Amino acid sequence: MTNEELWQAVLAQIQLNISPANFATWFKDTKIISQKNGVILISTPNSFAREWLEQKYNKIIFKVLHNSDEELKEVKYEVGKSGLKILKKIPVSFQKDGQLEFQEFKIDKETNLNPRYTFENFIVGPFNELAQAASFAVAKNPGQVYNPLFIYGGVGLGKTHLLQAIGNEIIKNFPQKKVKYIPTEKFVSEVINSIKNHQMEKFKSAYQIVDTIIIDDVQFLTGKEKTQEEFFYTFNSLYEKNKQIILSSDRPPKAIPALAERLRSRFEGGMIADISFPDLETRMAILKAKCQERKIGLSEEILEYIASTIQRNIRELEGALNILIVYQKLNNSLPDLTMAKSLLKKIISSPNNIISAKKIIQAVMEFYDLKEKDLISTSRKREIVKPRQVAMYLLREELKSSFPFIGRKFGGKDHTTAIHAYEKISKEIEKNENLIEEINIIRQRVLSG
Ligand code: ADP
Ligand code: MG
Repeated sequence: MTNEELWQAVLAQIQLNISPANFATWFKDTKIISQKNGVILISTPNSFAREWLEQKYNKIIFKVLHNSDEELKEVKYEVGKSGLKILKKIPVSFQKDGQLEFQEFKIDKETNLNPRYTFENFIVGPFNELAQAASFAVAKNPGQVYNPLFIYGGVGLGKTHLLQAIGNEIIKNFPQKKVKYIPTEKFVSEVINSIKNHQMEKFKSAYQIVDTIIIDDVQFLTGKEKTQEEFFYTFNSLYEKNKQIILSSDRPPKAIPALAERLRSRFEGGMIADISFPDLETRMAILKAKCQERKIGLSEEILEYIASTIQRNIRELEGALNILIVYQKLNNSLPDLTMAKSLLKKIISSPNNIISAKKIIQAVMEFYDLKEKDLISTSRKREIVKPRQVAMYLLREELKSSFPFIGRKFGGKDHTTAIHAYEKISKEIEKNENLIEEINIIRQRVLSG
C-alpha cells in the first residue's frame, strides 16, 4: 500500500469520529511523507495543524495506523516544505512526490515508463474508443501511421495511462527502439536547468537519439517562451526523421495557440483524438476490473453506488475503491453499503458543497496560466480580460453570486463590469465552440479539484 492510500484510509476512519468542521480544519492537506523503522512521519500545511494533530489527534491517528502496521512505534509530525500549490500544479504528481503514486512499481529510468500502464488493463468504451484505437495503431507501427498523435481530455480520464501503454507496447514489440516518456513539467525544468548550466547541447543530443517521444500535458508549455522554442526544435528534428511523436493535453491543440499555429501543417499528417467522460456502463466495467485486479469482492450495490456518483473522473473511481480496500484490510471485513457511503463521504460530496469562489478563480488562473494579481488588476490586455470575464461568468453561473459581489472579488470593480462580463461570455459561447470547451474544462477542474 502506498503512503497515499494508507493516509486516505486513515482519514476515512478519522472522519467517522470527529466533526466535519474539525476534520476540514485540521486534516486538510496533510499526508504521510515516510514510514521507516516503526516511525511514520506526517506532514501538515502549517504549524497550527501540526500542534493540533500532536496534541489532540495523535491518539486516534496512532490507533488507526497501528491497526494496519503492528510494528508502528511512533507517529511524528512536521510542517511540510512544499505547500499545496506545488502539489496542485502537477497533475500526475510525478516528479516532486512521485514516490506516493508509483512507489510499488518500477519506473524505468531511461524511458520513464511505468509497467503498470498497459493496453490490457485499459478498459475501452464509447468515450475513449477512438483515442485507444489510434494509440494501439501507433504502438504497432511507430512512425508509420499517425504522426504526431495528439490525445486530449479532462483530468483523470486516462491520458497518461494510454500514452504510457503506447510506450510499453512499443518496447515489447520493438525492443531495440528507444522510447522516452516525459511530462511537460519535467521537460520545462530540464530546459531551464540546461540553460543555467550551459548544457544545452547535451540536452539536445539526448533527444536526438530517441525513436519515440511521448510528451504528456503539453498545456504546461503555455507562457513559457524559451521552452516552447526548444520544444519546437526537438519536435521538428524528430519529425523530419520520421520518429514517432505522441502528445497529450487537457485541451485540443487549437486551444493552445502557440502550439497550434507553429505545428498546424504537422497536425495535418497526424491524428487528434479526444477522451470524453465515461458512461455508466464503462464506469461499472472499470470498477469491476479494478476489483478483480485488487482481489476485493465488493457487492454490486456498492459498485453501483460508486459508479453512479463519481461520473467524471476515473482516478476518483480508483480513489473510492482504495478507501474501501483499506477499510477491508484494517477491519478484516467488507464494508456494507451504509459504511461505504460514510467512508466515501469525503470524496463524494454534492457539487454545491465543494465549489467556491476561490476554487473557480484558482482554476481559471491555472488554466490560463495567470496570477491572481493579473485577474484583479485593471489591465485591458486581451490575454487578461478574457480569463477575467470567464471567471466572472463562472462565479455567476456556478454560484449565483451577485454582480456587486463579483465586482468586489476582482479588485473592487463596479457591478456593471461584472454584468458586462457575464453577458459578453454568455453571448460568445453561443457561437464559439472553443470557448465552450475551455469553460467546460475549467468547470470540471473546479469540480474535481
Ligand atoms: P489523466 O492522465 O487523463 O489525468 P490517468 O491516465 O492518470 O489520467 O488516469 C487516472 C487513473 O485512472 C489511472 O490510474 C489510470 O490507470 C486509470 N484509468 C483511466 N482510464 C482508464 C481505463 N479506460 N481503464 C482502466 N483504468 C483507467
Ligand atoms: Mg496525466
